[in-house]
Amino acid sequence: MRHVAIVGSGPAGYYTAEALQKKLGEDVRIDIIDRLPVPYGLIRFGVAPDHQSIKAVSRRYEGVALTENVRFVGNVTVGEHVSIAELQDLYDAVVLATGAPNDRPLEIPGGDLPGVIGSAAFVGWYNGHPDFADLDPPLDGPNAAIIGNGNVALDVARILSKTTEEFAGSDIVGHALAALETSAVRHITILGRRGPHQIAMTPKELGELGHLANAAPRLDPADFPPEGDDALLEPGMRKSVTHLRSFANDPVAKPKTIDFDFFAMPVAIEGDGRAERVVVEKTRLDEQLRSVGTGETYTIDASLIVTCIGYQTPPIEGVPYEHGRGRFANDSGRILPHLYCVGWARRGPTGTIGTNRPDGYEVADQIVGEAMGANRVGRSGLDTLLASRRANVVTFRDWQRIEAAEIGNAREGAPREKFTDIAAMMSAIGLPD
Ligand code: NAP
Repeated sequence: MRHVAIVGSGPAGYYTAEALQKKLGEDVRIDIIDRLPVPYGLIRFGVAPDHQSIKAVSRRYEGVALTENVRFVGNVTVGEHVSIAELQDLYDAVVLATGAPNDRPLEIPGGDLPGVIGSAAFVGWYNGHPDFADLDPPLDGPNAAIIGNGNVALDVARILSKTTEEFAGSDIVGHALAALETSAVRHITILGRRGPHQIAMTPKELGELGHLANAAPRLDPADFPPEGDDALLEPGMRKSVTHLRSFANDPVAKPKTIDFDFFAMPVAIEGDGRAERVVVEKTRLDEQLRSVGTGETYTIDASLIVTCIGYQTPPIEGVPYEHGRGRFANDSGRILPHLYCVGWARRGPTGTIGTNRPDGYEVADQIVGEAMGANRVGRSGLDTLLASRRANVVTFRDWQRIEAAEIGNAREGAPREKFTDIAAMMSAIGLPD
């Protein structure tokens, strides 16, 4: 019997469990450990609440979770209730599927002023992550800026722009819906340090900006390279750029505006005790298509500034880490003998949910090919440790009761109303937190 511990219950964790199950069948026991009492990581807390079809992939993970040889061990923090070294003693393999939950810092003067918020926090707030439920972002001013030209920037712009009616059918949490209902934000500027051909936005997500009830994108046609150059782009990127061109060429007037400022590098944030404006330096592209400052600056007013410039995996003491790339140092997912990483903890924060599937399968192959450790007892040893440390473990059945309570609490038309703090999740199943 092979015993495997997976730390993190997001897509990367569950795809790895699925792969191990397929390869080893009854010969494997897998414990998926999560610090929260609820599973699915990025699916629950990262994917936008108005993208329910993407969130539906959690049903596939549920299928894995409900098999006999996979356990969910929720409300258990690695580093607090159990260490990596202890897991290595108990299991034949330990897989870190801890994602990249920390924001890459925007290291410019004023980057720490109140009103400057990283996307992990802002997205966590509207998705009900317990760490960010109390964020209370400043929505009292008319101007907001979003830094970055990726899909997270699009998610944030869309969430700031939608009407209450447009959130029907979403599972945006009540506190965010209420705050957005009274939001004063009318003008959103998305700042990209390079040009329309260098965006990291995908076509479907960009297309959605063209169909908002109350908001419309505005772009300057002068920012685009000649149209013939689009033929050189790969097909997905070409579709994205086609959306951008149509926004630029056929502007629509709506009460809220989403301005795309290209070749615009934030160099400082200014304000009297809180963010009031972004100082932006115009850029140009060098031969390697990197952005280079031109020295010319301008300012845009913004009392809410959301940085959407990527994420980092938090380091774990004793686990080799690649600081420049914000992920564990690994060779195709292998960190050290019997210690692996998958998903964003392996690759850095890139790719779609589906990218994690081949990742998980590749690491599962390596685990299967590696000699087993000696005298690994697996889950019975973990249970003994956790009991001695008085951890209140949440099982998958417990989670299903939390989920049932969330579904019961849903406002009309919504799939669920998430609990946004751990105490409420635990009280729903009659356990102390
Ligand atoms: P991303 O795709 O890596 O985009 C980050 C953006 O930030 C880039 O435009 C980058 O510009 C810019 N940037 C980085 N550092 C900067 C700085 N110091 N100043 C100004 N701009 C800076 O990251 P993301 O948007 O966080 O998305 C993460 C992953 O999740 C991506 O794979 C994304 O596709 C995925 N995702 C998918 C969906 C969806 O499918 N619906 C939704 C959300 C996220 P440069 O290119 O110049 O570096």
